[in-house]
Amino acid sequence: MQAVVLEQFGAASHLAVHTVPDPRPGPGEVLLRVRACGVCYHDIINRRGSLPRTSVPAILGHEVAGEVIEVGAGVTGWSVGDRAATLQRLSCGKCPACRSGRPSLCKYDNRFFGEELAGGYAGLMAAPVAGLGRIPDGMRWEVAATVCCTAGTAVHVVRTRGRIAAGETVLVTGASGGVGLQTVQLARLDGARVIAITSSASKEAVLRRAGASEVIVSPALQFASEVRRLTHGEGVQAAIEIVGSATFAQTLKAMAPGGRVVVVGNLESGTIDLNPGLVIVKELEIIGAYATTQRELETALNLTHEGLLSPFVTEVLPLEGAAEAHHRLENREVTGRLVLSPDLQAPSAKEAP
Ligand SMILES: [Zn+2]
Ligand SMILES: [Zn+2]
Repeated sequence: MQAVVLEQFGAASHLAVHTVPDPRPGPGEVLLRVRACGVCYHDIINRRGSLPRTSVPAILGHEVAGEVIEVGAGVTGWSVGDRAATLQRLSCGKCPACRSGRPSLCKYDNRFFGEELAGGYAGLMAAPVAGLGRIPDGMRWEVAATVCCTAGTAVHVVRTRGRIAAGETVLVTGASGGVGLQTVQLARLDGARVIAITSSASKEAVLRRAGASEVIVSPALQFASEVRRLTHGEGVQAAIEIVGSATFAQTLKAMAPGGRVVVVGNLESGTIDLNPGLVIVKELEIIGAYATTQRELETALNLTHEGLLSPFVTEVLPLEGAAEAHHRLENREVTGRLVLSPDLQAPSAKEAP
């Protein structure tokens, strides 16, 4: 098969298409013909070598939609021809964390697509069925591929972890990315007032269309005083922190007493200086949010299928476009998601209908 292989960690130029042996489905797995794979900022962090569980050569990509073309031993409930989308990571389904509805905390099977498991920047991918959800009829492959990590993450952060209630004011950093736009939409759908933070004025219009009541454009990421002004000095009840270290201090200053900070992204893999006093006197909650669950993926697929959340697939590129996609994402040139499709052929891809 053709696959984008990361030969060594580092620059985007290390991503190149090679012919590699076809994968085979093991017990509990199906073989997918990959139809689309989203390009996520997580893939950039992975490509740089910041994720310890990945070893090179690697095939990246955890946002995969594909057609089942072979079913491995012991698999029930999946047949050839079924349409499947991946979760980001697996879980065992049996341990106390899994049984209590928190499979993101499972320690017994925490394999991640694109890390320990070969990912979807490829023509074929073997996938354990514990990491799959069903794609509704009629949903386009490139949309289905991105739902888990964008809308699914939004369900995880806004509903499960953030407990966002109608009438609350919610701050979203990194709001114009794939996760951010879905988070803005879902928080608005659930009745919250959304203040969106972006570093680029060109992204204000799309954020307003997604449902942001206010957009703060701050290339220097200094937004706390403006948030306080917009909330009459009160601050926000909840924040969805998608940027991480570069915005965390400002986010803390923008919180109302008793506020909840849901941390779901750390784009630069950086650290922070934190004054615990601020957390103490305001009784803030700092809440981590990791991977989408199968139930959340199902919810996200349905919300998207019903048109309540709009997907933001910006462009579909052939596998040969992987390095370009990383380059554009890294340079903040992307609003929404870029998707790779093995069905597209380079270099005539852009002329395809
Ligand atoms: Zn992702
Ligand atoms: Zn488990």
